[in-house]
Amino acid sequence: MNKDQNILTDTFGRAHGYLRISLIERCNLRCTYCMPAEGIPLSPKSHLMSYEEVYTIAKTFADYGVSKIRITGGEPLVRKDFPLILEKLASLPVELALTTNAVAVDRYLDTFKKFRLNHINVSLDSLDAEKFKQITRRDYFEKVWRNFHTLIEHGFKVKLNAVLMKGINEDEVVDFIRLTEKLPISVRFIEFMPFDGNRWNLDKLVSYQEVLQKAQDAFGKHEVVRLDDAPNDTSKNFKIKGYEGSFAIISTVTNPFCDSCNRLRLTANGRLKNCLFSASESDLLTPLRLGKPIEPIISKAVQSKFGVRGGMDTLEKLKDPKFHSQNRSMIAIGG
Ligand code: SAM
Ligand code: SF4
Repeated sequence: MNKDQNILTDTFGRAHGYLRISLIERCNLRCTYCMPAEGIPLSPKSHLMSYEEVYTIAKTFADYGVSKIRITGGEPLVRKDFPLILEKLASLPVELALTTNAVAVDRYLDTFKKFRLNHINVSLDSLDAEKFKQITRRDYFEKVWRNFHTLIEHGFKVKLNAVLMKGINEDEVVDFIRLTEKLPISVRFIEFMPFDGNRWNLDKLVSYQEVLQKAQDAFGKHEVVRLDDAPNDTSKNFKIKGYEGSFAIISTVTNPFCDSCNRLRLTANGRLKNCLFSASESDLLTPLRLGKPIEPIISKAVQSKFGVRGGMDTLEKLKDPKFHSQNRSMIAIGG
């Protein structure tokens, strides 16, 4: 396929310059909103992309214009050859970013620096150790909290992601925002999204409007300043006047940002997902192993991308398990 042909532009004119690669389906936490209590059926190791295969597929995307790659999972730092994968990806002309639960980041600070991985999103849903344990089903709060600060001290650009759930951590919105008084971070509140097995329902969701209201009630309406959002940004950004950092709301459910979507996702077993909510996937790994070109498959997947949320264009459809339960659990997609 001719490289001048833009196989990454879809029928809505959206050019896809951002690839999120999941390295692994396993994790050292068990977040309730991300995976079912009983776990998920794991792909056999031989069905997962090797580090060379991750690189070859990523290079194909970079050749066609992907300029940013985010490494995710499962928990990407659980994968033993993570440094090798990072080294290979760092040889591509792309900006690198990582999403991690931060349990193991202290082991990799030098590796991140060596391979110019500066943008790190840390997922942390509670500032309370007991609640953290309840959400993640693991007792690692102290470690994560320490590692989160270490990253900031070492000059990494850190964002903190918190999935808000009614009756669980919605009462911590203001405490999270207070972290931005002294820390140069962005705290991002993510609306709880439905996936297979995560017992989602709309009543558990804390909406964009509710988060904003909580911020305005606590700090005063005029102290909460709306910031400019970066192009293709999925979040709406705010700041409390005079604070060092900022906060943002990612409203995938109540206010989707599909019009400017520039993302594609590659699962750890080498399937391309054209949307986080898409039930369909395109296998790139099998043809790659057979020595066949993967560009036509990528092109077809991009061309078939729906305009809004994998075809769940109304809240009614998103609420219907018939639609959202066809999708994998988040842990197996790579958030
Ligand atoms: N293990 C890493 C971590 O937790 O950062 C990377 C993978 S995790 C699947 C990526 C992101 O997806 C996390 O920020 C997590 O909070 C988010 N996530 C998982 N399930 C979600 C859900 N049901 N709704 C909203 N966000 C979710
Ligand atoms: Fe693991 Fe991240 Fe999912 Fe939590 S959100 S179970 S840390 S993959």
